[in-house]
Amino acid sequence: MNWIETAGRVAVVAGIGALVGGVYGSATAGGLVALTGVIVYWLYQMRRVQRWLESPDKAPPDIYGVWGTLLSHIYSNQRSSREIQQRLQSNVEYLQNSFASMRDGVVMVNAHGAIKWFNKAVEPLLGLRFPQDVGQTLTNLVRSPQFNQYFIKGDFSRPLQYTSQAENPLHLQVEITHFGEGERLLFVRDVSAAVRTEQIRRDFVANVSHELRTPLTVISGYLATLKSSREDCPPRFEKPLDQMLQQAARMENLLKDLLWLSRIESEAREVKRELLDVRGLLQELKEELAGAHPEAKIELSLNTSAKILGDYREIYSAIANLATNAIKYSPPDSPVLINWSSQGKHCRLSVADKGIGIEASHIPRLTERFYRVDDSRNTATGGTGLGLAIVKHVAAAHDARLEVESAPGAGSTFTLVFPQGD
Ligand code: ADP
Repeated sequence: MNWIETAGRVAVVAGIGALVGGVYGSATAGGLVALTGVIVYWLYQMRRVQRWLESPDKAPPDIYGVWGTLLSHIYSNQRSSREIQQRLQSNVEYLQNSFASMRDGVVMVNAHGAIKWFNKAVEPLLGLRFPQDVGQTLTNLVRSPQFNQYFIKGDFSRPLQYTSQAENPLHLQVEITHFGEGERLLFVRDVSAAVRTEQIRRDFVANVSHELRTPLTVISGYLATLKSSREDCPPRFEKPLDQMLQQAARMENLLKDLLWLSRIESEAREVKRELLDVRGLLQELKEELAGAHPEAKIELSLNTSAKILGDYREIYSAIANLATNAIKYSPPDSPVLINWSSQGKHCRLSVADKGIGIEASHIPRLTERFYRVDDSRNTATGGTGLGLAIVKHVAAAHDARLEVESAPGAGSTFTLVFPQGD
């Protein structure tokens, strides 16, 4: 019933009251009595609506007229909002049930860092206890400075891997995503088995390389002795001897690179952080390269005296690999330019050559171990296929990135972009 109908009915009741009042001598009094009756009736209905609103679980009372219409609107709104709430609740329960059945640990944290919910799987991983830890601040309960730093910093673009400080330490991987209003969802995974396998693989490579070095040194030694005593050696052995010496030298380089790579490839290792004078390092490297490759034209361009934080040997080996490649993959008389400059908060070390260059399709794979653009190229240059893998690991350990620009026939520029150290 709308308000015009309601007003019409009130007017009719007042009119009847006035008529009856007129019969008894006062139409006004009759009208007023009728209106008072309407108000009393409305007050009564209002009270019924109010009582129902106070206990909405009960069925709504049967009310006629304007209050009945209002009541039915309230009732249907209430029902639909209850349905929405139930649907949301069942969605949340569905999600929680799926998270609860996951083998990975899941924790929901609110905008203030307090735990809202977590599944059973996370309890042994983060040492949480249900239900007493719900509502607690997560960083007060997880006793790992690495985890807390990562959580508070709020940069979750890459997952965190760390070793828990429990009695039996676990290797955990944590991924965090934002959801809702400042809330965070954490996925915690035990990656101890994968880390162990990786460690076994690394140890195996390191041990094999180490064990092979001694016999190889003996073989190279005898080959060198044989070659130096030419008069005792039949001429037909000369070429095979040269090739054996060349291949032995290649194997020695390969073992040296493998050993070095297995030392530096662990992402979790502590890297020495000393302030490095890159200008001095490059001058030393230039002298060494000039000794090893007298035909090469190496030019240094030192445009900054900025320093970086890092390990001298590692940085030296990375730049040496880039420079050796530039020499290897360029004609002998072509220049190699090593440039050291700073740009904003970054320092750039680039090694540019005008050599054979690389096709764009190979560039993303260059830092893979043993990846070569052209295998026949490698036999001629004597490379190990590990040089750029070493550069990649050194860069990662120094928060640096490697950029490669190259075009076949035009040359290549490999740039290491470091954060400035001072
Ligand atoms: P390698 O010991 O074979 O040089 P690297 O890991 O150092 O191994 O390099 C991987 C491959 O990338 C090389 O085999 C070569 O094909 C290519 N490459 C690296 N540097 C250059 C460069 N400056 N110019 C052209 N090709 C290059």
